[in-house]
Amino acid sequence: MPELPEVEGVVRSLKPVVEGKTIQSVQISPTVKASHEVGKQSIVKGTTPEQLIEHLEGMKIVKITRRSKYILFDLERDGQQFKMINHLGMSGGWFDLKNAEEIQEGKFQNHRHVELQLDGDQTLVYADIRRFGEVRLVENLAQFPPILKLAPEPFDADAKQYFLDCCNLPKYKNKEIKAVIMDGQVLCGCGNIYATEALFRAGIRPGRKTSLISGTKKEQLFDTIVAVLLESIAFGGSSISDYRNINGEAGGMQDRLKMYGMNICPMCHTNTKQKTIAGRNSYYCPNCQK
Ligand SMILES: [Zn+2]
Repeated sequence: MPELPEVEGVVRSLKPVVEGKTIQSVQISPTVKASHEVGKQSIVKGTTPEQLIEHLEGMKIVKITRRSKYILFDLERDGQQFKMINHLGMSGGWFDLKNAEEIQEGKFQNHRHVELQLDGDQTLVYADIRRFGEVRLVENLAQFPPILKLAPEPFDADAKQYFLDCCNLPKYKNKEIKAVIMDGQVLCGCGNIYATEALFRAGIRPGRKTSLISGTKKEQLFDTIVAVLLESIAFGGSSISDYRNINGEAGGMQDRLKMYGMNICPMCHTNTKQKTIAGRNSYYCPNCQK
């Protein structure tokens, strides 16, 4: 599943090729249209596919930014502002193609669900193999409360104090630390891969109760999470399963992960253990992590 670094990679690669372009026409896949006919709203949320097509046509893509794991497209038509909110779900990706070209990464080719025809024979395709992703159009972010409830971006100046304060709240202090750092209302953008990795590097067991970790250790954990996220952004993200950037390229961070998916601890060579926390499998070293 794409986490913050992978989404940041998508945003950075989309910006130079898409900002300033106007959406000439839009195509939505028959699969998505059929899902709406039976009340399922696959991928296109909040409007019908037909409404989304009608609204998007003629809009200019002014700016693309990231908030946690959401990609935000600032759109404008006749002086009116809109935002298209995209979440990549488990296996979504954007691809920048020349008109009617096939996606190089073949497994995405049959899963082209939203296609934006831009100026200059450019096609921006949202492909999603498992269809857990989302595309929705709003006039402003107040129309999409999940974004308003998010913790600050981990790189913002107030994010560390926000995290430390949350850890002391009754609803979090008795929880396992890994569940807390993966909660977007406490610390945003840290999913299973980077939570596993940061806890290993900070020497903290994923199942440790939050209130039993000292303030200094929690600060160290926060700094480690930020360092791991920045390292991953620098290495193009992790391509554990389906993540690809807009040119279909895989990232390099998966080769730098020390604990995620490891059966033997790379530091002390002890067999690792696994525990399910917040519905996700957590690897840890019973020797290096306390
Ligand atoms: Zn170890």
